[in-house]
Amino acid sequence: MKRRDLFKALGAGVASVPAMAGGPSKLESKVVRLKLRHTWTTVMSSSDYRDTVHLLYTRDGLAGVGEGAPIVRYHENAESAERAIESVHDLLAASDPRQFAKIMAGVFRRIVGQYAAKAAIDIALMDWFGQKLGVPLYTYFGLDPADAPVTTFSIGIDNPELTRQKVREAEAFPVLKIKVGLATDEPTIDAVRSVTRKPLRVDANEGWKDKEEAVRKINWLESQGVEFVEQPMPAEMIEETRWVRGRVHIPIIADESCLRSADIPKLADAFDGINVKLDKTGGILEAYRMIQIAKSLRMKTMLGCMISSSVSVTAAAHLSPLVDYADLDGNLLIANDPYSGVTVREGKLILPDRPGLGLKPAAA
Ligand code: MG
Repeated sequence: MKRRDLFKALGAGVASVPAMAGGPSKLESKVVRLKLRHTWTTVMSSSDYRDTVHLLYTRDGLAGVGEGAPIVRYHENAESAERAIESVHDLLAASDPRQFAKIMAGVFRRIVGQYAAKAAIDIALMDWFGQKLGVPLYTYFGLDPADAPVTTFSIGIDNPELTRQKVREAEAFPVLKIKVGLATDEPTIDAVRSVTRKPLRVDANEGWKDKEEAVRKINWLESQGVEFVEQPMPAEMIEETRWVRGRVHIPIIADESCLRSADIPKLADAFDGINVKLDKTGGILEAYRMIQIAKSLRMKTMLGCMISSSVSVTAAAHLSPLVDYADLDGNLLIANDPYSGVTVREGKLILPDRPGLGLKPAAA
């Protein structure tokens, strides 16, 4: 099935836009409901599905696909993301997609917030452009796919019995990411450790509000074979995190504290690294910039993702040869991925070598 047909099968509304010099562009956006394999619980929420917004950008016989996973914490949802995309249809239709950086600068000026929508546009344009050049996106960025890191597989918060079951199901992954930040942290880690001795990375999602509690928890996690901790304290508690950092022995990675480039300098002595996600940055271009800025400040870099299909996860994966850590498993947590792209072999990310994102319809 061609991408266009797949998109139709997903029930996309087609927005016709005027013809332009060099060939008409066509934009189709659609909210796609992704069903989760397990009910997903973190400090922030619990759910059985996630809605993401997909964008198909067609021109010159090539179809670029984009996706954004709206983040509730930043007052985004699938409908607001779709409206944001529709609000710049005229700009996209009137622009030359080879000037994707100029287009995205215009998109950032026109749309306030709505970074998932921006990500969907950026990814679709870059997918289109990679296909136009006939190269995979990692080649456009001058990267070697052999440098792609291992990805963690995430285990959401659950009771000990289900936690053990999820850890067994994740047998193929050499490193696990465990969601913590609740009163049940110790039983959770105990349950994981009753099944495996694998290295663990933990994400507290801002769960510890008290700096002494954070130190106590992290010191205990150090004794449990945890490699690093993500966002131990609320996003704005940077001073407290700096205090915590002086009292622990594993890296602290910023996620909710670090959305875009401008956030990085103030975090450089409170955190050891940053977690970059396309749905926070508004796309691949800003993600690339963040990774370079963090490296220049000698910070560790990580690529993460929201729960999304292979569109968004594959887009992030094309930058993964640049980073120290990857947590790109959002597509593995869903049961109805419309596409296949990046795959995982013994935990390592395997990038598709087809042009652009290199996506195929899942059934193909
Ligand atoms: Mg996180």
